[in-house]
Amino acid sequence: MIKKKIVVYTHGCKVNQYDSDAMLKILQQAFDVSDELEMAEQYIINTCAVTAEAERKSRQTVTKILKINSDAKIYVCGCASQRDAMQFERDGVVYVSGTDGKIALAKALVSSEEFDKKASNFSIGKEYEENEGVLSLRTRHYIKVQEGCNNFCSYCIIPYLRGRSRSRNIDNIKKELDEAVKVAKEIVLTGINLSAYGLDNGSSIAELISELKDYDARFRLGSLEVGVMDKVLLDATKALKDFCPHFHLSLQSGDDVTLKKMNRHYTTEDYARAVDLIREYYPNGAITTDIIVGFPTETEEQFEGSKAFARKIKFSDIHCFPYSSRNGTVAGKLHTLDKATMDRRTKEMGEVKRELVNDYLTAQIGVPLNVLFETVDKDGIWCGHTENYVKVYSKNGEKNTIKTVVPARLYLDGLCE
Ligand code: SF4
Repeated sequence: MIKKKIVVYTHGCKVNQYDSDAMLKILQQAFDVSDELEMAEQYIINTCAVTAEAERKSRQTVTKILKINSDAKIYVCGCASQRDAMQFERDGVVYVSGTDGKIALAKALVSSEEFDKKASNFSIGKEYEENEGVLSLRTRHYIKVQEGCNNFCSYCIIPYLRGRSRSRNIDNIKKELDEAVKVAKEIVLTGINLSAYGLDNGSSIAELISELKDYDARFRLGSLEVGVMDKVLLDATKALKDFCPHFHLSLQSGDDVTLKKMNRHYTTEDYARAVDLIREYYPNGAITTDIIVGFPTETEEQFEGSKAFARKIKFSDIHCFPYSSRNGTVAGKLHTLDKATMDRRTKEMGEVKRELVNDYLTAQIGVPLNVLFETVDKDGIWCGHTENYVKVYSKNGEKNTIKTVVPARLYLDGLCE
């Protein structure tokens, strides 16, 4: 019997990607599955609401799908529909639900249950919603270990959409790892707030990592908060057989007054101290970060301070986000800066990013790096990531294989031999 095709298309973060992997695992029992926007009978869109732009793109995906197949049946779930389901009420969309219940949605499709829009699920669970394994179509394998967040940073809508922090049972993590390391060379531990792992079950992210020391795979950590960075955590990473010295340490602003207004619970001095500690353990480690520019109260002087601090830290990369006002958040009540100021600050922080990325890449030339090759282009040029998250291009790559490469020069957005 020819299986019907279903696409699970994902917007947003690694956790959303992982949630989609869990749906794909269930759906493959009855469907030919894909995670790309291609011809199919049915589509699931796993949406994102971290910024207004992310929501717009989630809505736009409905239009794109109907251009591919005007008779498509579309099921919408995730953060954007949790925040505002009505924005997805349109032809072709047969069901809209929220951040929880994605497993139930996949199961209902497999058992080809009739969908009743009125029965949509927008409740947010109190317990960690376990899954039945995942189907990862990527080389680097994400493993979700935590859900939700308790921090309520003043600009962030996520805690309202994904609920309180809840940690995954460590035995379930290990069960999934036992399978994942049979195929994947790299495991990325991820969560909505990975640093909060264990707060609700008396454990910690350091304890979780120390439980993984016998696994034969290289481990990378998802985004971390400053407060969790200490010797205990770094010692635990040193005990792993293979650890990627890449720390995505979320900064958001390099100005203390703005950090306070963002309800971020550290100072730039705390942040610099955490980075110094990481560099004691991993001198050539990568420190990447997220920075919001144009927070409503950010003055020119504070913005200049933020740029100067980024230069002082010498990040290996910066994800720069223009502030996006989210209704329902504390900062969402504040007047936003004018567009010209936002665009100029985004451009200027982008220049700081390019300068620092170029410095870090240049410093890797001549250094032997272990590249996990992931993709190959039409000219046979392979691309992969090193342990310190540098992109490397090579003719001598191989899918899902780690090779030591000594980069000789800058190339595209990375390095090559
Ligand atoms: S830590 Fe802050 S920015 Fe991150 S998900 Fe939680 S509230 Fe949002």
